[in-house]
Amino acid sequence: MSANELETLPISRAEFVRQEIFKNVAFESLAGYLLGCKTLVATPGTMLINPDHPMRRLIVLLDGLLEVRVESQGGNYTDFIRPGHCAGEMSIFENVKPSAKVYAKETSKILIIDGDTALAMLNASHDLCLNFLQILSHRLRNNNRVVCEEEYHIRCIEENAKVDSLTGLHNRRWLEEMYTRELSRSNAGNLHLSAFMLDIDHFKNINDTYGHLVGDQVLIAVAKAILQCLRPTDMPVRYGGEEFTIFLPGTSIENAKIVGERLRATVEAMKIPLPDKNDCISVTISVGFTERQPGDSVETIIKRADDALYNAKENGRNRVCVNLGDGTMFLF
Ligand code: GH3
Ligand code: MG
Ligand code: MG
Repeated sequence: MSANELETLPISRAEFVRQEIFKNVAFESLAGYLLGCKTLVATPGTMLINPDHPMRRLIVLLDGLLEVRVESQGGNYTDFIRPGHCAGEMSIFENVKPSAKVYAKETSKILIIDGDTALAMLNASHDLCLNFLQILSHRLRNNNRVVCEEEYHIRCIEENAKVDSLTGLHNRRWLEEMYTRELSRSNAGNLHLSAFMLDIDHFKNINDTYGHLVGDQVLIAVAKAILQCLRPTDMPVRYGGEEFTIFLPGTSIENAKIVGERLRATVEAMKIPLPDKNDCISVTISVGFTERQPGDSVETIIKRADDALYNAKENGRNRVCVNLGDGTMFLF
């Protein structure tokens, strides 16, 4: 048969019994309906279902492969229809435009059943109904899987957007959401919450002396040291450049002082190997911290910690400074 040729010859018994949609269905029970149906051999690329030209008909793929393309603002989705399966059922049950375009992916032989005949056949054969439902159920399950995978994919992208790719710590975007939430929680329960601001001392010199890549290694090492000093509930963030913030939920100013000193001493003790492995470098950090006060916003608490950090820098660096919030600062 030549391409895109409509055959008035109906489907043969041999073809009928091979199709999943006709599984367990007696050929004789539907032969009368099938006499009025046509078959078509479609060349690759032929559009068989077009949302712009809706037709009320069911198509059954007898041989070949069909491609289903769903195009939406959210993106495109492609699926395939294999022999024995069907398309166009929405046009029969619902008076709506098809939701997808269906093309012949390979040279495909299809059986075309007009809408009323398809309904009459379903009425006539219980087994055809069951097969049809099985095919639709399979398709629904497949679509659910695609939706779940898409959602997971979107969640991963959203999560990645909140992580600093160099250090693996969370970034400012995460901070805005999570610090706001944590501060509200602490404000509501009048709970302890300490905030830190850290900055690597003379970091520009590292870049200038050893190059940007070594600078990056230092940032990674400092981030690792910070994590090493914290509890899982603490909330470290790469604030930007060589600055880090940390929220420590449930941590009083006395305990924050211990953490601050631990952070400073841990970084000071670190030996960061240079790429040639023959030498190591060390860095120091300055640390400012403060405790939550009633009425604090994320901006005000971070600003107080930042003022303490500035004071630590002004007073020689590699130091820890607390801002008590009443205008008093103490250096350790
Ligand atoms: P201070 O002790 O006063 O903090 O001095 P500093 O040199 O650490 O501070 P300054 O703000 O002068 O320099 C910070 C440098 O950090 C400048 C910038 O190029 C560098 N920097 C920011 N982000 C990155 C990064 O992702 N990788 C590297 N290698 N360098 C970075
Ligand atoms: Mg610095
Ligand atoms: Mg800085």
